[in-house]
Amino acid sequence: MKRITIVGGGQSGLQLAIGLLQKGYDVKIIQDRTGDQIAAGRVLSSQCQFDAALDHERALGINFWEDTCPPVEGISFTVPNPEGPGKAVEWAAKLDAKGQSIDQRVKMPRWLEEFSRLGGDLVIATADIAMLEHEAKSADLVLVASGKGEIGKLFERDAERSPFDAPQRALALTYVHGMAPRENFSAVNFNLIPGVGEYFVFPALTKSGPCEIMVFEGVPGGPMDCWKDATTPAAHLETSLNILKTFTPWEYDRCKNVELTDDNGILAGRFPPTVRKPVATLPSGAKVLGLGDAVCLNDPITGQGANNAAKAAAVYFDAILAQGDKPFDEAWMSATFERFWDYAQWVVRWTNMMLLPPPPFVLNIMGSAQVLPGLAHRIANGFDDPRDFFPWFADPAAAEDYLTSLQAA
Ligand SMILES: Cc1cc2nc3c(=O)[nH]c(=O)nc-3n(C[C@H](O)[C@H](O)[C@H](O)COP(=O)(O)OP(=O)(O)OC[C@H]3O[C@@H](n4cnc5c(N)ncnc54)[C@H](O)[C@@H]3O)c2cc1C
Repeated sequence: MKRITIVGGGQSGLQLAIGLLQKGYDVKIIQDRTGDQIAAGRVLSSQCQFDAALDHERALGINFWEDTCPPVEGISFTVPNPEGPGKAVEWAAKLDAKGQSIDQRVKMPRWLEEFSRLGGDLVIATADIAMLEHEAKSADLVLVASGKGEIGKLFERDAERSPFDAPQRALALTYVHGMAPRENFSAVNFNLIPGVGEYFVFPALTKSGPCEIMVFEGVPGGPMDCWKDATTPAAHLETSLNILKTFTPWEYDRCKNVELTDDNGILAGRFPPTVRKPVATLPSGAKVLGLGDAVCLNDPITGQGANNAAKAAAVYFDAILAQGDKPFDEAWMSATFERFWDYAQWVVRWTNMMLLPPPPFVLNIMGSAQVLPGLAHRIANGFDDPRDFFPWFADPAAAEDYLTSLQAA
């Protein structure tokens, strides 16, 4: 049976590894932290996933939190009134199927356990080039699913597919208990504050049970890029609340009784969204294939990274099975990534668009959704499959045609 080595036991690496073990492959994961270390560490993400991504996990029977994770039932969108208090735009729409966010400190340790239970070979080590060379000699295929880990720089940045070479947002996460639920249905509450950044919040499952995850996306150098001095967990929470008080008082009103889920329930950082060439050549000439964030890293503004990672793992899984006894050569590696890119290019394009100041036609779309429930529903459900945003979310003429047809109907 074919031997596959995967560097990185995160969303994409573990999902693929577990799927391959179930099919009888001989799978090794090289992962730099144990499950216990991940569980005891900092939060890593806000990891909200939508139905199509969750379906890949369901297909493998690793959706262990179906009943315990609070659902994300919809998406709401708000723009504060630039002239004074209140809101300029506000709408909400339901998702056709629920989303879920399971703290990766809960999910990855459980998946690592499942990997070992199925007979996977788990090596706890930080992989380097020498280790990749070693694996390339003995395995039929070496995949690098190292997320934002340094080893991913092995893959050359794809300048054509990466329009930004610097971080576009100052990111922060704050995991809290005690937030008042939103009315009607649970949702990703997305607030766009022009020139300042975005704030979104949604229910999730963390180590201590249901919680809410606050996500801050500050325009670099702006007033939401303010985490430098928040050096303690208490200061981080205070900074989070100050932002809400200043820019989204309706969100602040939900936070009268919040407390951090734990001292590690916070994160601040930034990175440039980057697409890389999917195949890297080791000094020996051996080829390795990148998977997930290692080769397709998006800003979290649209909440797509873990969704993409799950979808990429599913594409690679099918391609590995389809290859049967044939070798995983460079042509197969490139073709496999391109099959994923057929989908992911739209996610990357939409996500990168959202990082730029919205052009007037996009503002018009987002405003029109207040009075066109069908439009609000389509935008909300586009998070599950962003291909549906094209062409009408990217092209002024297509947007006008689409809005005219909706108004006529
Ligand atoms: C602030 C923030 C908010 C986010 N919110 C969302 C969201 O709401 N929805 C969404 O879909 N996505 C979100 N994401 C993105 C999502 O978390 C990632 O896209 C997803 O986890 C990527 O999966 P992956 O398998 O590629 O990498 P990861 O899940 O990061 O796994 C990589 C693993 O490899 C290990 N590793 C790294 N280097 C090495 C090495 N040299 N040797 C061995 N092991 C190594 C790492 O420790 C890690 O365990 C967010 C990200 C951030 C930063």
